[in-house]
Amino acid sequence: MDCVFCKIADGQIPSDIIYEDEKVIAFNDQDPQAPIHFLVIPKKHIESLAKLEDEDKDLISYIFMVIKKITEDLNLAEDGYRIVNNTGVDGGQTVKHMHFHVLAQRSLQWPPG
Ligand code: 5GP
Ligand code: ZN
Repeated sequence: MDCVFCKIADGQIPSDIIYEDEKVIAFNDQDPQAPIHFLVIPKKHIESLAKLEDEDKDLISYIFMVIKKITEDLNLAEDGYRIVNNTGVDGGQTVKHMHFHVLAQRSLQWPPG
């Protein structure tokens, strides 16, 4: 499958990996929008949040626990951070492998543009 994040997950494309286990990988975004900006993805190819199946519900909660662990390890919990998921065209999704952005260490505005 021609998916850049599957290729990152299986090591065909190099990336700056900050966390990895059997189900999930996290790596720094190549075009960071904040001093800390990494992506957390399932190794399983799921096109977007809109394509989640019932069987993926444990994986989704697991991803959020991984985000909690990474942000704790990076000491981000006190100042805070933002988790972003872009789904589909109007959501601004460019890579069709579900991913969660985590941005931190700058004061982020709301609402987004
Ligand atoms: P989206 O717009 O789909 O939510 O976000 C995709 C993100 O993936 C973008 O922030 C983009 O910079 C990042 N990205 C795309 N290709 C690569 C890549 O090959 N390596 C890394 N590290 N990030 C990528
Ligand atoms: Zn993929």
